[in-house]
Amino acid sequence: MSVTRERSGALDTARIRADFPVLERTVGDKPLVYLDSAATSQKPRQVIEAEADFYAHHNANAHRGIYLLAEEATSMYEEARAKLARFIGAPDPATIVFTRGTTESTNLVAYAWARRELREGDEILLTEMEHHSNIVPWQLAARDTGAVLRYLPLTDDGLLDLSDLGSLLTERTKLLAVTGMSNSLGTLPPIRELIRAAHAVGALVLVDGAQLVPHVPVDVTELDCDFLTISGHKMLGPTASGGLYAKRELLERMDAFLGGGHMIDEVFHDRSTWNAVPYKFEAGTMNIAQEIALGAAIDYLEALGMDNVRAHEVELTGYALERLREVGARIFGPLDPSIRGGAISFWYKDVHPHDLATILNEEGIAIRAGHHCTQLVMRRYGVPATARASFYVYNTSEEVDALVEALAKAEAVFGL
Ligand code: PMP
Repeated sequence: MSVTRERSGALDTARIRADFPVLERTVGDKPLVYLDSAATSQKPRQVIEAEADFYAHHNANAHRGIYLLAEEATSMYEEARAKLARFIGAPDPATIVFTRGTTESTNLVAYAWARRELREGDEILLTEMEHHSNIVPWQLAARDTGAVLRYLPLTDDGLLDLSDLGSLLTERTKLLAVTGMSNSLGTLPPIRELIRAAHAVGALVLVDGAQLVPHVPVDVTELDCDFLTISGHKMLGPTASGGLYAKRELLERMDAFLGGGHMIDEVFHDRSTWNAVPYKFEAGTMNIAQEIALGAAIDYLEALGMDNVRAHEVELTGYALERLREVGARIFGPLDPSIRGGAISFWYKDVHPHDLATILNEEGIAIRAGHHCTQLVMRRYGVPATARASFYVYNTSEEVDALVEALAKAEAVFGL
């Protein structure tokens, strides 16, 4: 074997793993090897306990009552907002709207910004590596406004092909919506350069941060993106936690999204006025406990250090790519770990990804098989599905070894 098996210098994975109760589980008689964090991450006990603590000791609706519990709930919820703002370098907690995650955040922009601002013939520029949640909301907005969708294509190596950027990004472009990190190819597109190029033609930029924010240090002020969508459940937080960052002047101008309690200032028979930003976008009872527990997830990631989180991922991804290629797996996406994240799509010999995932499950290994909500990527590379292994802070090189060894078993089962 040509690869070295050095331990991650960046993170103490043994200590981290002790914080994740689910990693003590077995699957049959095999220890669980969880390689599906791109779908959703596991949760440390600090996050599980933060959510339980809220329900056990502080539960009340936020921004409603003036009794002690209600004030505690409100201040814990707003503290979580301030943590999320700080975590992504946002200038002001009011620029964070809490949502159930990236899908809801993107739809919020598609309804409250795009439907108000776009006219017939305006263009929205997407890329062929987008998750369906960064395609379909724009298709619906384009249908309602007469706007036109354009796509940046992909190279054979899984990068964005920017050779026609000049003709695809023009004065007609009103929005560039691009992923910060591909969930199926792992690619990190050059978002800094794309944001600069889009602003030069007067377009706004939405960065899909579902995979980026959990894995790479992000500073929205430095990036200068206009919108960033965030999934709490992929960064150690609970499901249905997350948010939308948007520049304050955009939030002020945007239309309301969902109508209901708390998002209003005054309600008359025939009209209403809106609450201040960000509450204008937070209608009804929110995911209070989940956002508070997301605050605990942010504390956890900050204690590890996002530079260390990224360094660990680069190291593990580099090791996995090397081992997978050694045994003949076909990798979809870039091979250089410095320009990609830890979601690795592959085919192993001729084993269909679904069969592979089924056999790996018998070994206790959880990977994803399918199109990963990126059918344009599958079409581009002429496959119906891929197998995908993805990593996070608790994964180790031994788990990569377990994956590679299990591939040999799959090969034996299929007699390849
Ligand atoms: N975008 C990307 C790149 C993703 O990986 C995902 C989740 N698979 C989403 C968007 C959707 O995120 P959420 O589950 O928070 O709605």
